[in-house]
Amino acid sequence: MDTPVDTKLIDGAAHARAVRAELRPRVEALRSSGVVPGLAVVLVGNDPASRVYVRSKARACEEVGLYSEQHDLQGSTAEEQVLERVRMLNRDPRIHGILVQLPLAAHISVDRVLHTISPEKDVDGFHPCNVGLLATGNPVFAPCTPAGVLRLLEREGISPEGKRAVIVGRSNIVGKPVAMMMLRKHATVTICHSRTRELGGVTREADILVAAIGRARFVTGDMIKPGAVVIDVGINRLPDGKLAGDVDFASVHGRASRLTPVPGGVGPMTIAMLLENTVLAAERTAKTA
Ligand code: NDP
Repeated sequence: MDTPVDTKLIDGAAHARAVRAELRPRVEALRSSGVVPGLAVVLVGNDPASRVYVRSKARACEEVGLYSEQHDLQGSTAEEQVLERVRMLNRDPRIHGILVQLPLAAHISVDRVLHTISPEKDVDGFHPCNVGLLATGNPVFAPCTPAGVLRLLEREGISPEGKRAVIVGRSNIVGKPVAMMMLRKHATVTICHSRTRELGGVTREADILVAAIGRARFVTGDMIKPGAVVIDVGINRLPDGKLAGDVDFASVHGRASRLTPVPGGVGPMTIAMLLENTVLAAERTAKTA
Protein backbone atom coordinates (compact mmCIF):
# COMPACT_ATOMS: atom_id res chain seq x y z
CA MET A 1 0.00 0.00 0.00
CA ASP A 2 1.42 3.41 -1.01
CA THR A 3 1.32 6.24 1.51
CA PRO A 4 -1.48 8.70 0.64
CA VAL A 5 -0.35 11.81 -1.21
CA ASP A 6 -1.61 15.27 -0.34
CA THR A 7 -3.45 16.19 -3.56
CA LYS A 8 -3.66 19.86 -4.50
CA LEU A 9 -6.53 20.74 -6.81
CA ILE A 10 -5.70 23.01 -9.74
CA ASP A 11 -8.27 25.79 -9.82
CA GLY A 12 -8.82 26.29 -13.55
CA ALA A 13 -11.49 28.93 -13.02
CA ALA A 14 -9.10 31.11 -10.98
CA HIS A 15 -6.30 30.68 -13.55
CA ALA A 16 -8.73 31.54 -16.36
CA ARG A 17 -9.79 34.71 -14.49
CA ALA A 18 -6.14 35.72 -14.21
CA VAL A 19 -5.55 35.09 -17.94
CA ARG A 20 -8.62 37.20 -18.78
CA ALA A 21 -7.34 39.99 -16.52
CA GLU A 22 -3.98 39.90 -18.34
CA LEU A 23 -5.81 40.30 -21.65
CA ARG A 24 -7.66 43.48 -20.66
CA PRO A 25 -4.75 45.92 -21.17
CA ARG A 26 -4.05 44.32 -24.58
CA VAL A 27 -7.70 44.79 -25.55
CA GLU A 28 -7.56 48.40 -24.27
CA ALA A 29 -4.44 49.12 -26.35
CA LEU A 30 -6.16 47.75 -29.47
CA ARG A 31 -9.37 49.67 -28.76
CA SER A 32 -7.48 52.92 -28.31
CA SER A 33 -5.94 52.41 -31.76
CA GLY A 34 -9.46 51.88 -33.17
CA VAL A 35 -9.46 48.08 -33.31
CA VAL A 36 -12.05 46.05 -31.40
CA PRO A 37 -11.05 42.39 -31.47
CA GLY A 38 -13.96 40.44 -32.95
CA LEU A 39 -14.88 36.76 -32.73
CA ALA A 40 -17.52 35.05 -34.89
CA VAL A 41 -18.92 31.74 -33.70
CA VAL A 42 -20.77 29.61 -36.23
CA LEU A 43 -23.20 27.12 -34.75
CA VAL A 44 -24.87 24.62 -37.06
CA GLY A 45 -27.88 22.81 -35.59
CA ASN A 46 -29.25 22.59 -32.10
CA ASP A 47 -26.87 20.44 -30.07
CA PRO A 48 -27.63 21.46 -26.45
CA ALA A 49 -24.03 21.06 -25.22
CA SER A 50 -22.75 23.18 -28.15
CA ARG A 51 -25.31 25.88 -27.30
CA VAL A 52 -24.02 26.00 -23.71
CA TYR A 53 -20.39 26.29 -24.88
CA VAL A 54 -21.24 29.00 -27.41
CA ARG A 55 -23.11 31.02 -24.77
CA SER A 56 -20.22 30.87 -22.33
CA LYS A 57 -17.81 31.94 -25.10
CA ALA A 58 -19.99 34.98 -25.88
CA ARG A 59 -20.19 35.93 -22.18
CA ALA A 60 -16.41 35.65 -21.79
CA CYS A 61 -15.87 37.87 -24.87
CA GLU A 62 -18.11 40.52 -23.43
CA GLU A 63 -16.31 40.44 -20.11
CA VAL A 64 -12.91 41.27 -21.62
CA GLY A 65 -14.24 43.83 -24.11
CA LEU A 66 -14.23 41.73 -27.28
CA TYR A 67 -16.89 42.04 -29.95
CA SER A 68 -18.58 38.72 -30.65
CA GLU A 69 -21.32 37.57 -32.98
CA GLN A 70 -23.08 34.26 -33.30
CA HIS A 71 -24.14 32.74 -36.60
CA ASP A 72 -26.90 30.21 -36.04
CA LEU A 73 -27.51 27.93 -39.00
CA GLN A 74 -30.12 25.20 -39.10
CA GLY A 75 -28.94 21.60 -38.78
CA SER A 76 -30.14 20.91 -42.33
CA THR A 77 -28.00 23.70 -43.86
CA ALA A 78 -26.10 22.47 -46.93
CA GLU A 79 -22.31 22.24 -46.63
CA GLU A 80 -21.82 24.85 -49.37
CA GLN A 81 -23.87 27.38 -47.38
CA VAL A 82 -21.75 26.78 -44.28
CA LEU A 83 -18.61 27.25 -46.39
CA GLU A 84 -20.08 30.45 -47.87
CA ARG A 85 -20.73 31.80 -44.37
CA VAL A 86 -17.12 31.10 -43.41
CA ARG A 87 -15.84 32.83 -46.60
CA MET A 88 -18.00 35.85 -45.79
CA LEU A 89 -16.47 36.00 -42.29
CA ASN A 90 -12.98 35.63 -43.78
CA ARG A 91 -13.64 38.88 -45.70
CA ASP A 92 -15.26 40.77 -42.77
CA PRO A 93 -12.75 43.27 -41.30
CA ARG A 94 -14.61 43.43 -37.95
CA ILE A 95 -13.92 39.74 -37.41
CA HIS A 96 -10.44 38.63 -36.33
CA GLY A 97 -11.29 35.12 -35.16
CA ILE A 98 -13.67 32.51 -36.57
CA LEU A 99 -14.77 29.45 -34.67
CA VAL A 100 -17.04 26.79 -36.09
CA GLN A 101 -18.49 24.85 -33.17
CA LEU A 102 -17.91 21.10 -33.46
CA PRO A 103 -19.35 18.51 -33.84
CA LEU A 104 -21.01 19.15 -37.21
CA ALA A 105 -23.82 17.14 -38.78
CA ALA A 106 -22.69 14.09 -40.77
CA HIS A 107 -23.48 15.67 -44.17
CA ILE A 108 -20.91 18.44 -43.57
CA SER A 109 -17.20 17.69 -43.96
CA VAL A 110 -15.36 18.98 -40.87
CA ASP A 111 -12.12 19.06 -42.87
CA ARG A 112 -13.61 21.16 -45.70
CA VAL A 113 -15.07 23.62 -43.21
CA LEU A 114 -11.88 23.93 -41.16
CA HIS A 115 -9.74 24.25 -44.30
CA THR A 116 -11.94 27.13 -45.51
CA ILE A 117 -11.30 29.28 -42.42
CA SER A 118 -8.53 31.76 -43.21
CA PRO A 119 -5.41 30.64 -41.26
CA GLU A 120 -5.05 34.24 -39.98
CA LYS A 121 -8.51 33.99 -38.37
CA ASP A 122 -8.21 30.36 -37.27
CA VAL A 123 -8.31 30.99 -33.51
CA ASP A 124 -9.13 27.32 -32.83
CA GLY A 125 -5.83 26.37 -34.48
CA PHE A 126 -7.32 23.54 -36.56
CA HIS A 127 -6.37 24.71 -40.09
CA PRO A 128 -3.59 22.52 -41.57
CA CYS A 129 -1.33 25.61 -41.78
CA ASN A 130 -1.60 26.15 -38.04
CA VAL A 131 -1.34 22.42 -37.30
CA GLY A 132 1.85 22.37 -39.41
CA LEU A 133 3.27 25.41 -37.63
CA LEU A 134 2.61 23.74 -34.28
CA ALA A 135 4.17 20.46 -35.45
CA THR A 136 7.32 22.25 -36.65
CA GLY A 137 7.64 24.13 -33.37
CA ASN A 138 6.52 27.60 -34.49
CA PRO A 139 2.91 27.83 -33.40
CA VAL A 140 0.86 30.96 -34.07
CA PHE A 141 -2.59 29.81 -33.00
CA ALA A 142 -2.29 26.73 -30.80
CA PRO A 143 -5.58 24.85 -30.29
CA CYS A 144 -7.38 26.20 -27.24
CA THR A 145 -7.79 23.13 -25.02
CA PRO A 146 -4.19 21.90 -25.42
CA ALA A 147 -2.95 25.47 -24.94
CA GLY A 148 -5.08 25.63 -21.79
CA VAL A 149 -3.49 22.43 -20.46
CA LEU A 150 0.03 23.74 -21.03
CA ARG A 151 -0.82 27.15 -19.56
CA LEU A 152 -2.26 25.54 -16.43
CA LEU A 153 1.00 23.65 -15.92
CA GLU A 154 3.04 26.81 -16.50
CA ARG A 155 0.92 28.86 -14.11
CA GLU A 156 1.20 26.11 -11.49
CA GLY A 157 4.99 26.22 -11.83
CA ILE A 158 5.18 22.68 -13.26
CA SER A 159 7.79 22.35 -15.99
CA PRO A 160 7.38 19.40 -18.38
CA GLU A 161 11.14 19.48 -19.15
CA GLY A 162 12.73 16.07 -18.70
CA LYS A 163 9.50 14.57 -17.33
CA ARG A 164 7.60 11.55 -18.64
CA ALA A 165 4.33 12.88 -20.06
CA VAL A 166 1.68 10.32 -20.97
CA ILE A 167 -1.30 11.48 -23.02
CA VAL A 168 -4.31 9.17 -23.21
CA GLY A 169 -6.18 10.09 -26.42
CA ARG A 170 -4.89 10.89 -29.90
CA SER A 171 -7.57 13.17 -31.34
CA ASN A 172 -6.59 16.07 -33.59
CA ILE A 173 -8.35 18.44 -31.20
CA VAL A 174 -6.76 17.40 -27.91
CA GLY A 175 -4.44 14.38 -27.71
CA LYS A 176 -2.09 14.99 -30.64
CA PRO A 177 -1.62 18.74 -30.11
CA VAL A 178 -1.10 18.30 -26.34
CA ALA A 179 1.61 15.75 -27.17
CA MET A 180 3.31 18.13 -29.61
CA MET A 181 3.20 20.97 -27.10
CA MET A 182 4.63 18.76 -24.33
CA LEU A 183 7.41 17.72 -26.70
CA ARG A 184 8.14 21.36 -27.43
CA LYS A 185 8.47 21.85 -23.66
CA HIS A 186 11.06 19.03 -23.60
CA ALA A 187 8.95 16.29 -22.01
CA THR A 188 9.45 12.65 -23.02
CA VAL A 189 6.07 11.95 -24.51
CA THR A 190 3.99 8.80 -24.91
CA ILE A 191 0.60 8.85 -26.63
CA CYS A 192 -1.92 6.11 -25.75
CA HIS A 193 -5.20 5.20 -27.48
CA SER A 194 -7.82 2.48 -27.61
CA ARG A 195 -5.37 -0.10 -29.00
CA THR A 196 -2.69 0.52 -26.37
CA ARG A 197 -1.86 -2.70 -24.52
CA GLU A 198 -1.50 -2.66 -20.74
CA LEU A 199 -2.58 0.94 -20.50
CA GLY A 200 -2.18 1.04 -16.71
CA GLY A 201 1.48 0.01 -17.02
CA VAL A 202 2.10 2.95 -19.35
CA THR A 203 0.11 5.53 -17.37
CA ARG A 204 1.92 4.50 -14.16
CA GLU A 205 5.16 5.73 -15.73
CA ALA A 206 3.77 9.25 -16.11
CA ASP A 207 5.05 12.22 -14.12
CA ILE A 208 2.37 14.19 -15.97
CA LEU A 209 -0.73 12.35 -17.13
CA VAL A 210 -3.26 13.97 -19.47
CA ALA A 211 -6.57 12.17 -19.93
CA ALA A 212 -8.51 13.09 -23.10
CA ILE A 213 -10.60 10.00 -23.71
CA GLY A 214 -14.29 10.83 -23.45
CA ARG A 215 -15.12 8.01 -20.99
CA ALA A 216 -16.33 8.98 -17.54
CA ARG A 217 -14.01 8.07 -14.61
CA PHE A 218 -11.92 5.80 -16.82
CA VAL A 219 -8.53 6.59 -15.25
CA THR A 220 -8.47 5.12 -11.75
CA GLY A 221 -6.07 5.57 -8.83
CA ASP A 222 -4.21 2.31 -9.53
CA MET A 223 -3.22 3.72 -12.96
CA ILE A 224 -1.39 6.66 -11.37
CA LYS A 225 2.16 6.86 -10.07
CA PRO A 226 1.97 8.35 -6.56
CA GLY A 227 2.78 12.06 -6.78
CA ALA A 228 2.02 12.42 -10.52
CA VAL A 229 0.35 15.53 -11.93
CA VAL A 230 -3.00 14.56 -13.46
CA ILE A 231 -4.81 16.77 -15.96
CA ASP A 232 -8.35 15.70 -16.74
CA VAL A 233 -9.60 17.07 -20.08
CA GLY A 234 -12.72 14.89 -20.24
CA ILE A 235 -16.22 16.30 -20.02
CA ASN A 236 -18.81 13.54 -19.78
CA ARG A 237 -22.50 13.91 -19.01
CA LEU A 238 -23.66 11.25 -16.52
CA PRO A 239 -27.18 9.76 -16.63
CA ASP A 240 -28.13 11.95 -13.61
CA GLY A 241 -27.20 15.05 -15.62
CA LYS A 242 -23.99 15.78 -13.66
CA LEU A 243 -20.60 16.22 -15.33
CA ALA A 244 -17.66 13.87 -14.78
CA GLY A 245 -14.15 13.87 -16.14
CA ASP A 246 -12.21 10.99 -17.64
CA VAL A 247 -10.44 10.60 -14.29
CA ASP A 248 -12.03 8.85 -11.34
CA PHE A 249 -11.67 11.75 -8.93
CA ALA A 250 -12.35 9.69 -5.79
CA SER A 251 -9.55 7.15 -6.32
CA VAL A 252 -7.02 9.54 -7.90
CA HIS A 253 -7.41 12.10 -5.12
CA GLY A 254 -4.88 11.06 -2.50
CA ARG A 255 -2.55 9.62 -5.14
CA ALA A 256 -1.83 12.50 -7.55
CA SER A 257 0.13 15.53 -6.29
CA ARG A 258 -2.00 17.88 -8.45
CA LEU A 259 -5.32 17.22 -10.09
CA THR A 260 -7.73 19.28 -12.20
CA PRO A 261 -11.38 18.98 -11.17
CA VAL A 262 -14.26 18.62 -13.66
CA PRO A 263 -15.92 21.04 -13.96
CA GLY A 264 -13.62 23.92 -13.08
CA GLY A 265 -10.30 22.61 -14.42
CA VAL A 266 -9.37 22.63 -18.11
CA GLY A 267 -12.80 23.85 -19.35
CA PRO A 268 -12.50 27.51 -18.24
CA MET A 269 -8.92 27.64 -19.58
CA THR A 270 -10.10 26.53 -23.02
CA ILE A 271 -12.30 29.62 -23.25
CA ALA A 272 -9.55 31.88 -21.89
CA MET A 273 -7.19 30.60 -24.59
CA LEU A 274 -9.82 31.28 -27.26
CA LEU A 275 -10.01 34.89 -26.10
CA GLU A 276 -6.22 35.13 -26.07
CA ASN A 277 -5.99 33.77 -29.61
CA THR A 278 -8.62 36.27 -30.78
CA VAL A 279 -6.70 39.16 -29.21
CA LEU A 280 -3.51 37.85 -30.83
CA ALA A 281 -5.26 37.64 -34.22
CA ALA A 282 -6.40 41.26 -33.87
CA GLU A 283 -2.89 42.39 -32.85
CA ARG A 284 -1.38 40.63 -35.86
CA THR A 285 -3.92 42.25 -38.21
CA ALA A 286 -3.34 45.67 -36.64
CA LYS A 287 0.43 45.29 -37.17
CA THR A 288 0.11 44.47 -40.86
CA ALA A 289 -2.61 47.09 -41.56
P1 NDP B 1 -12.20 11.76 -29.29
O1 NDP B 1 -13.35 10.83 -29.15
O2 NDP B 1 -11.96 12.43 -30.58
O3 NDP B 1 -10.86 10.95 -28.90
C1 NDP B 1 -10.83 10.09 -27.80
C2 NDP B 1 -9.50 9.39 -27.74
O4 NDP B 1 -9.51 8.51 -26.62
C3 NDP B 1 -9.20 8.54 -28.98
O5 NDP B 1 -7.88 8.75 -29.41
C4 NDP B 1 -9.42 7.11 -28.51
O6 NDP B 1 -8.57 6.17 -29.11
C5 NDP B 1 -9.05 7.23 -27.04
N1 NDP B 1 -9.71 6.16 -26.29
C6 NDP B 1 -11.01 5.81 -26.32
N2 NDP B 1 -11.22 4.74 -25.54
C7 NDP B 1 -10.02 4.40 -25.00
C8 NDP B 1 -9.58 3.37 -24.14
N3 NDP B 1 -10.42 2.45 -23.67
N4 NDP B 1 -8.28 3.31 -23.81
C9 NDP B 1 -7.42 4.24 -24.29
N5 NDP B 1 -7.77 5.25 -25.13
C10 NDP B 1 -9.06 5.31 -25.49
O7 NDP B 1 -12.36 12.81 -28.10
P2 NDP B 1 -11.70 14.29 -27.92
O8 NDP B 1 -10.23 14.21 -27.96
O9 NDP B 1 -12.40 15.26 -28.80
O10 NDP B 1 -12.18 14.61 -26.42
C11 NDP B 1 -11.75 13.84 -25.33
C12 NDP B 1 -12.49 14.29 -24.08
O11 NDP B 1 -12.18 15.66 -23.83
C13 NDP B 1 -14.02 14.26 -24.20
O12 NDP B 1 -14.56 13.93 -22.92
C14 NDP B 1 -14.40 15.67 -24.56
O13 NDP B 1 -15.71 16.02 -24.16
C15 NDP B 1 -13.37 16.44 -23.77
N6 NDP B 1 -13.06 17.78 -24.30
C16 NDP B 1 -12.96 18.77 -23.38
C17 NDP B 1 -12.64 20.05 -23.78
C18 NDP B 1 -12.49 21.09 -22.73
O14 NDP B 1 -12.60 22.26 -23.02
N7 NDP B 1 -12.19 20.70 -21.48
C19 NDP B 1 -12.47 20.40 -25.20
C20 NDP B 1 -12.48 19.25 -26.08
C21 NDP B 1 -12.79 17.99 -25.63
P3 NDP B 1 -8.68 5.78 -30.69
O15 NDP B 1 -8.04 6.92 -31.41
O16 NDP B 1 -7.91 4.54 -30.79
O17 NDP B 1 -10.14 5.65 -31.00
